[in-house]
Amino acid sequence: MATERLKNYVGGEWVEPKVTDVHVVRNPATAEIIGETPLCGTHEVDAAVRAAAAAFPAWRAVPVQERVQYLFKLKALLDQHQSELAAIVTRENGKTLSESLGSVKRGIQMVDVATGAPSLLMGQSLEDISSGIDCESVRQPVGVFACIAPFNFPAMVPMWFFPFAVACGNTFICKPSEQVPFSQKLVWELIHDAGFPPGVMNLVNGGRDCVSAIIDHEDIAGVSFVGSTPVAKIVYERCAATGKRVQALGGAKNFIFVMPDADMDLALDAITESAFGCAGERCLAASIVVPVGGCEAEVRKGLVERMAAIRIGDGSEENVQMGPVISEPHKQRVIDYIGKGAQEGAELVVDGRKVDREPGYFVGPTLFCDVKPDMTIAKDEIFGPVLCMMPAADLDEALSFSKQQPLANASSIFTTSGKHARQFRYNIEASMAGINIGVAAPMSFFGFGGAKGSFFGDLKAHGREAFDFYTDRKVVISRW
Ligand code: NAD
Repeated sequence: MATERLKNYVGGEWVEPKVTDVHVVRNPATAEIIGETPLCGTHEVDAAVRAAAAAFPAWRAVPVQERVQYLFKLKALLDQHQSELAAIVTRENGKTLSESLGSVKRGIQMVDVATGAPSLLMGQSLEDISSGIDCESVRQPVGVFACIAPFNFPAMVPMWFFPFAVACGNTFICKPSEQVPFSQKLVWELIHDAGFPPGVMNLVNGGRDCVSAIIDHEDIAGVSFVGSTPVAKIVYERCAATGKRVQALGGAKNFIFVMPDADMDLALDAITESAFGCAGERCLAASIVVPVGGCEAEVRKGLVERMAAIRIGDGSEENVQMGPVISEPHKQRVIDYIGKGAQEGAELVVDGRKVDREPGYFVGPTLFCDVKPDMTIAKDEIFGPVLCMMPAADLDEALSFSKQQPLANASSIFTTSGKHARQFRYNIEASMAGINIGVAAPMSFFGFGGAKGSFFGDLKAHGREAFDFYTDRKVVISRW
């Protein structure tokens, strides 16, 4: 595909932003240039906010039953174009076609759930809260909402938000990651074809200046952010300063505990997929495996065998199981962490730096054993195919390792003991918890988000919580 410069979608039209700064987008498997993201700022964000604010009064007055018809149309279009969308995800992000398709399907499920708005938006009422006085609580849309997305799930993450926001009667602005803008370009073409009224759905491309313009804008009512923890913190604080609602999903360092009573084949297959699927660039990826009670030799041997069998390559090719990481700088960052781990005394059992595929940004599956909680590789989010093994004497010690970690997105245990499973479920701080599950991903009808440094806010993404995030619950008390 020839190099293409992205446009914005504002007020129902594609508009060419008048900015000169661009981010050059490359296919991470080939390093080939595939496009340019215009790095928009205050002017372009303001135009989108004005379009969205102008569309809001009429859109909120459209009966919810009619609003969701646009989502039904969009769902049908997304279903028709899911393979095309998956191919774009693979080309701009590098993950394999089956991983891309899986993420696209997960995104489409968000639209499914949001079409339930006529039921999910219902309020509550009670007669005679005092003699002859009745009370009801109604959900009302709030205004213009925005989302700011990361590079790792280019099609899916914005879909965590906009279907719910507009089903509730709000209008919307999406800012995709400048590293992967093409998936949302197709999604917004389908949004256009679904016939949403102009201004209800808007798309602005850019990087950090665009984010600054969104989080500081006085006329945006709420922001959903997904990305790294340092940026999530900035977004949370600055949104609060302008009185916005905010849900800011941050980084991860996920633990998986393996009890000696676990079904080892199940555990090892699931951990391998969790740590190295999507080249480790998943916020739910296993980062630290904790063999408990003396099973480390078995876990180590099983992981090494499975890692050796992973086929690395261009994710658009059949049978490839692991694609590249997102960019040259990110590859270098992961390689630097591998060097740091070895330097700090962890045992480098499988060294992904040895995978030397040029061009493209490939790092092979990497395993460190004998990792200690105070090592850099145990503390920092690496966001690549690097797994650290940190043995523990018992489950109490294993849980104490995860308590020391400031991030708490997801965590899992592999066990056949109900007692161990309960102790884990009761004590683990991560708020996406898996029991005999490698990737504890809540589906569209549940809330998605972590705890501690992995999440800032209170209402999580999608599920029923979305209907709280995107509405004001007005209480009306009446006497006639
Ligand atoms: P990132 O924080 O670098 O970027 C996220 C978004 O913020 C992008 O749209 C980017 O343009 C913008 N941005 C980047 N730096 C900025 C800055 N200094 N000021 C303002 N805006 C800025 O994240 P990423 O590298 O795109 O994505 C990977 C990260 O996202 C990982 O930390 C991963 O764990 C996290 N993530 C978390 C979840 C979750 O559910 N918690 C899901 C997916 C990804």
